[in-house]
Amino acid sequence: MNKNLNANQVLIVDDEQSIRDGSERILGRMGCEVLTAGRGEEGLNILKKQPVGIVLLDMKMPGMDGMEVLQEIRKHYPDILVIVITGYATVETAIEAMKRGAYDFIPKPFEPDQLRIVVNRAQEKLKLTQEAEKAKIARRRTMLDLDTEKSRVRTIIESLPNGVLVTNAKGQVVLMNPACRTYLGIDPNMALGEPVNAYITNEELCSLVMEISQGRHLDFDDIPTVEFVAPNEMYLLARAKPVLGDRRECLGAVINLADVTALRVLDRMKSEFVAKVSHELRSPLSTIHEQLALVITDTIDQMSQNDVHLLSRAKEKTQGLISMIGDLLDLTRIESGSVSHENKPVQLEELLQSIIDFLNTRAKTKKQTLTLNLPDQPLPPLTSDPLAMESIFGNLITNAINYTQEGGNIEVTADLLGIHIRVIVKDNGFGIEAKHLEKIFEQFYRVKTDQTRYITGTGLGLSIVKGLVDSMNGVIQVESEPGRGTTFTVLLPFNTIQKTEDGGKTISG
Ligand code: ATP
Ligand code: MG
Repeated sequence: MNKNLNANQVLIVDDEQSIRDGSERILGRMGCEVLTAGRGEEGLNILKKQPVGIVLLDMKMPGMDGMEVLQEIRKHYPDILVIVITGYATVETAIEAMKRGAYDFIPKPFEPDQLRIVVNRAQEKLKLTQEAEKAKIARRRTMLDLDTEKSRVRTIIESLPNGVLVTNAKGQVVLMNPACRTYLGIDPNMALGEPVNAYITNEELCSLVMEISQGRHLDFDDIPTVEFVAPNEMYLLARAKPVLGDRRECLGAVINLADVTALRVLDRMKSEFVAKVSHELRSPLSTIHEQLALVITDTIDQMSQNDVHLLSRAKEKTQGLISMIGDLLDLTRIESGSVSHENKPVQLEELLQSIIDFLNTRAKTKKQTLTLNLPDQPLPPLTSDPLAMESIFGNLITNAINYTQEGGNIEVTADLLGIHIRVIVKDNGFGIEAKHLEKIFEQFYRVKTDQTRYITGTGLGLSIVKGLVDSMNGVIQVESEPGRGTTFTVLLPFNTIQKTEDGGKTISG
C-alpha cells in the first residue's frame, strides 16, 4: 500500500473538455484537488508525479483507450481507486472494467450529485483502507517490540552464570537456563514440562519447590535456603521464591542455584588447617602444663609466695589453652562431619552422675548447690558415643556453674518424653538477654556483661554442644531471663539416628 496516496487528489482523464471542466468544478467545490488529462498517456504521466488517490477514467478515448490505461494503473498503482466513465451504450465495457479492477463506474452523462456520491464513496473507502493499514502496521510493531523484549529477557537468563529454574503452579519445570542444566547434570536435550523431581534429586529442595509452587510460601522471608551436593560433586546453594501475579496469586516458583564449591573447599581447608595446628600445639602445651605442675608441687616450699602465684597463673593459662585446643579439634571434627561416634549403649543416669560428681568440686568453691533429679523408673539406654554425651552435658553444666553467682543453684533433671530422653540444665544465675539467645550457639560468641567480663572462655562450648546434638538428631533449646537464670533443654531420641556424610540417614541402635 502506498501510504502517501491522497484521497483528496482526483485525476480526471477524459478527452471531452466539457466533462473535464464540469467535473473539475463539481469536485473542486467538494474540496478536492483536481488534476485533468485529455489523453491516457498524459494521465499516466501525472500519476508518476502525483500521489493521486482517485482516478475518473473515460473508457472511450482516442489513442490509448480507457481499458489499457486501467490495466497500467492496476499494474503500477494497485491501490488507486479507478472510477470508469462510460456511455449508456457501453454497459458491458463497465462490467468488463469492474472485472479488471475498476472500483466503481459512472454512466455518461451524469448529474453533479451522481459524481459527488461516487467520488465520496471512493474517498471513504480509501480512507478506511488507509486507517486499517495504519492499525495493522502499529499492531505489527508492538508484536515486534514484544518479541524483542521477550528475546532480550531470554538472552539475559540464558547467559546468567547462576542456574535459573522456573516452575508453574503445578511444580512442573517451564524454564531452565544452560547453567542450571550444567550444575544439575541434565542432558541439554531433555525436554521441559516434567515435575521438578525429574530434574533435581535433592528431596528437601524438591519438596520446598513444590510447596512454593503451590502457593504455600507467599511470605518471602520464611523461605529457607537449601545447600546440597549435585551428582557431579558440585556444592550448590539454592534460593527459591514464589512468582506472584497481579493479585498476589502464586504462579509458580523461581529457583536460583549458585555454585558454592570453592567456598566449601576453602572451609574444608580452613578446618583442616585449624585441626593440624591445634594438634601440633597440644602435646608441647600439655608437656609445659605437666612440668609447671611438677615444679609447683616439688618446690613449693622453696619459693616465695609471689613465685608460686606466678607459676600457678601460668599453669592455669596453659590449662585454658589446652582446653581451647580440645574445643577447636572437636569443632573441626564436627564440621567435617567426621565425628566418629563410638556408639554403645549409654545409661544416662550414670553418665550424668559422674559428670556432676566431677564438677561438684568447682560448684562448691562457688558455694553453689548442684543437684541431679532422676525419674523413679530407669531411663531406656541411649545408643550413642559416651564421649560426645560427656561433652554435651559437661559443657552445659560448666556454663551453668560459670555464669551463676556465688551461692546459686544448679539443677539437672533427666526424664522421658515420648520417644526422647529429656535433660534439663537449669540455673538461677546471670541469665542471657533475648537478643543474644539466637547467637550463643555460634562459634566464638560470648556475651560480655559486667558480671561475665572476667570469666574466661573461648565461646566454642555451645557450638560444639549444638553440633553434637544435631548429629544425634536431637534438639537443644534455651530459655533465659536476665538476673533470674537460664534453662537449657536437650531432647535426644533414644533410637539414635545419625546423619551420614551425604546427608542421608542411617538408623543405629
Ligand atoms: P567455652 O568455649 O570455654 O565454653 P564460653 O563458655 O564463653 O567458652 P559457650 O559455652 O559457647 O562459650 O557460651 C557462650 C556464651 O553464652 C557464654 O560466653 C555466656 O555469655 C553465655 N552462656 C552460656 N551458658 C550460660 C548460662 N548458663 N547462663 C548465662 N550465660 C550463659
Ligand atoms: Mg562454655
